Amino acid sequence: MSTPLVKGWCPGALRPMLSGDGLLVRVRPPIGQLTQAQADGLARLAAQYGNGQIDLSARANIQIRGVTDQTYAPLVTGLASLGLIDATPEAEARRNIVVTPFWQSSDGTAELAERLGSALRDDRTLALPGKFGFAIDTGATPVLRDVSADIRIERDATGALLCRADSAASGARVTSDTAVDTALSLARWFISSGGRKRMAVHLADGATLPSAFTAIEAAPMTDMSPPVPGQSTAGFMIGFAFGQLQARTLSALADIAPLRVTPWRMLVLEGQTGAPDIKGIITHADDPMLRVIACPGLPGCTQALQPTRPLARALAPHVPVDKMLHVSGCAKGCAQPGPTSLTLVAQAHGFGLVRDGNAAFPPPHPPLLTVEQLLANPGTLMENPNALPV
Ligand code: SF4
Repeated sequence: MSTPLVKGWCPGALRPMLSGDGLLVRVRPPIGQLTQAQADGLARLAAQYGNGQIDLSARANIQIRGVTDQTYAPLVTGLASLGLIDATPEAEARRNIVVTPFWQSSDGTAELAERLGSALRDDRTLALPGKFGFAIDTGATPVLRDVSADIRIERDATGALLCRADSAASGARVTSDTAVDTALSLARWFISSGGRKRMAVHLADGATLPSAFTAIEAAPMTDMSPPVPGQSTAGFMIGFAFGQLQARTLSALADIAPLRVTPWRMLVLEGQTGAPDIKGIITHADDPMLRVIACPGLPGCTQALQPTRPLARALAPHVPVDKMLHVSGCAKGCAQPGPTSLTLVAQAHGFGLVRDGNAAFPPPHPPLLTVEQLLANPGTLMENPNALPV
């Protein structure tokens, strides 16, 4: 099995990443929201300077695909005119924040997100690792506990604000006035105490938090299923197959309302009740396409060993309602780091099969299955994969 390349940094708009279909330009909407003008402008830019495909990321960012060396500069100029570009790549990298998409105008979340974004942009002394990020989870109930972040601002069981290191059971009491400074002080402690990559790893390696960050118990973890398309408290939530939409779909959504970007690769049509009538969107929680996960695969990723999405799309109707199928273009498993009922991992001459694991662990064993074998026996694949003919 070939070993995938781990890059250890995230692309941005000012630091695009080369992918199989051109440059990948990742936009971080301030406070996780796009105004109608920004959403429509972004859609036009993606169609004009990219290949018209737009990805939603697990960190609530928006990725424009298929940008070329020639179209990159006018794209950045266009994004800047929409207020979607930071002053420098370093400022952009520091402003790595996921905001609960279910915030209400009265709960202070948007103001907190704006202030943290602006503080991170301005603090040039803060040299954080590439994937280090913040979560602002201060809506009525926490929803980002399973979303990757290193420093979390959230509410404790009484509803008061708390700043917590990821994986710690307690945190520091904060107010809306002190939350940003406290979060930045925790980030500085991470660096000065020798943190190298992620907060949870640092604590697991034995780092001891300053006492202020162990003073207040966090709200208990509840068993939360990820949100699904449908009505939410902030508006109507819309899903997309593989978290990808076309520029024309984004344009059509922008005609209706402002959008909030979620870390579950869905968009919320702010303040809207009921599903819009637009092609290429998922509005029902029981849509079979929600039971398959697939990274871009070939030709979208330079590390991919096989196409992934056509296979996942073809198998989707056969995935039982209580199961998930992950088709990964290589062992890196970008689209789903955690386990799923069944994972098909691309290799040079077929797919390895993993049950109740992820793309990397346990490693799939030969014999490999070809696309033809998988498509000929989709029911067996899901119910009794060991019985597949090889
Ligand atoms: S898992 Fe998919 S997207 Fe990630 S590196 Fe492999 S082929 Fe590319």
